Amino acid sequence: MSTTRSPRRHVRARRRRIYRIRRAVVACACLLLVLGVTLSARGALRALNALHEQAAAHTGSGIWSSAMSPYRAPERNASPSPAEQTLTEDEHTRKQREEIAALGAALTDAQRNEIYAKAKQTAQSSGALPTRMTYCIASRGNVGSVDHFANTVYRALNDVRGWPRAGVVFAQGQDGQCDVTITLAEAKELPSFSAGCSEEYSCRVGNDVIINKKRWDGAVQHWLDAGATLAQYRTMVINHEVGHALGHIDNETPCGGNKQSAPLMQEQSMFLKECSPNPWPLDGELWSTFVGSEP
Ligand SMILES: [Zn+2]
Repeated sequence: MSTTRSPRRHVRARRRRIYRIRRAVVACACLLLVLGVTLSARGALRALNALHEQAAAHTGSGIWSSAMSPYRAPERNASPSPAEQTLTEDEHTRKQREEIAALGAALTDAQRNEIYAKAKQTAQSSGALPTRMTYCIASRGNVGSVDHFANTVYRALNDVRGWPRAGVVFAQGQDGQCDVTITLAEAKELPSFSAGCSEEYSCRVGNDVIINKKRWDGAVQHWLDAGATLAQYRTMVINHEVGHALGHIDNETPCGGNKQSAPLMQEQSMFLKECSPNPWPLDGELWSTFVGSEP
């Protein structure tokens, strides 16, 4: 039995060995396959990530789809994005606010004297007889504090680009002791000065110079559209209305056209014609019939 069964057992054992070897080979192959797939997948992922980072560096954004697009991402400076546009507008608004604040900022006595001294020097070298106009500051209707208004008036009137070039300097006086009264008035109060004063504009009646609060706060749209600022409008409207008190009339000098500076006495709040906004008297407007006290 043993001799006849032994070769059979041997064959069976050999088959089992062969089967085990085959199994081991298949298992190894499977393992290698899995390993290969894993490694290649990781490599592909790394390559994709590299591509993504490259794209992000080029466009300045991490938007994957733009990197995959066959079209180039738009250049950064081609046109401002809505966010950048808002920033530019904010910057513009901030500058305007600063300009208005600076024009109406509180004045120390030293600053006041310095402004006056420069205005007086300009008046004395103007060739006209230097004279001083005193003004009182007042308000009518609901306009709040007039401190900022008063400081703006002082700076605008005594600016060396303004009426001092026609020989006139300006000093703020006490109630009742003034050549003119400059009032900041609520729009609806304008007709209470004269039937000829409109709620839409500023006005001058006798010794009263009335600045319309509505225009003080908002200027006029065509003025702003022409690139001028609210601070410049305030300067213009003060100089224009006080110009009437110096003897000037509306539109006495025609607009020269071609976007030249508008004459100060042109009714710039109503029209610019072919002129540019201008808050200062032109050379041809440097005269005054007003005679006040010695500066
Ligand atoms: Zn006028």
